[in-house]
Amino acid sequence: MSAAITAAPGPRHHVVADLGGTSLRIGRITAHGGVEAVRRVTTDGIGRPGARAAGTAQRRVLDQLARELEEYLRSPDGHGASAVGLSFAGPLAKDGVVRAAPTLWGAEAAPVHVGDLLSARLGLPVLVANDITAAAWRYAETETAPFCLITISSGIGSKVFRHGEVLVDDQGHGGELGHWRIDLSEDAAPCDCGGRGHLGAVASGRGILRAARAAAAADPAAFARSALAAPAGHRPEGITNEALARAVRAGDPFATHTLRGSLRPLASAVNCLFTAIGIRRYLFIGGFAVAVGERFVSLLGDELVRHGCFGLDSAETRAMLALGARDDDHCLIGMGRMLERSSHLTPVLEDSV
Ligand SMILES: [Zn+2]
Repeated sequence: MSAAITAAPGPRHHVVADLGGTSLRIGRITAHGGVEAVRRVTTDGIGRPGARAAGTAQRRVLDQLARELEEYLRSPDGHGASAVGLSFAGPLAKDGVVRAAPTLWGAEAAPVHVGDLLSARLGLPVLVANDITAAAWRYAETETAPFCLITISSGIGSKVFRHGEVLVDDQGHGGELGHWRIDLSEDAAPCDCGGRGHLGAVASGRGILRAARAAAAADPAAFARSALAAPAGHRPEGITNEALARAVRAGDPFATHTLRGSLRPLASAVNCLFTAIGIRRYLFIGGFAVAVGERFVSLLGDELVRHGCFGLDSAETRAMLALGARDDDHCLIGMGRMLERSSHLTPVLEDSV
């Protein structure tokens, strides 16, 4: 357990940050638990176009994070904050140490205690949590039963929330359904983590796009008849996630058939979680799921019913699936909840979650 820090007295005003591979966002928590005055910059990590080698990326990302937070805390929006919450795109051990953050600084980097580092630099208590853990906390009050939050964007992330805690082990393992290997073939689709055939390589926004382009190349006649052809300039590689989501929403058979193929292993993952530990609520967030909307949930429901969920009828099976909020503020709002909860329970914040 890392050093605990006593929160400043007086009315609570919390600043929260969401550090992802693409962007760093910083905002302040409102009196009603929402987020406002959000600033966004491109993360200076390995995901940045034209980024230099991964070796120095860790220092660059952490420097940028501290710099941007210092600036925000000096501004009228951040001035007077009593604590900072950071949602972090990587697993955190119980002692607060980050041992890997592939989307931020690649695989080759020393373990680092981000919370201690920031707290020393900012002179404030800092609470750090994994980003999907933070996002799950957004739903802690409104979801009365245990649930699994699954994000479907460029990759796939997941966390199970049960009885006031997110289920991971002391090293931060768990909630990584996106790296569950579903295809053992040697030429299976590559995952961002460097592995192959992972669920995140097949059923993420990126994976679904890859499948749609491959299907279009394999069956040019069907592609030509689909709603995808014109916006793609009649080229398979011209298909985009936006056009794909639009075509699925409009009921285009080719796009829908392709998406079903990618949702099958995702349904299998849900089925496995349900049968293993009895979680009956699955909330989907993330750019691609939100873009497809309710149709995403109904198509996934079809696949889940085909799998069958032991002990449930088809209506109960479909009722397990729902979309989360449509905004992109899950991690920031969830960090606000975590800070609020820490302050309520004790005047001491512990920066290891
Ligand atoms: Zn992977």
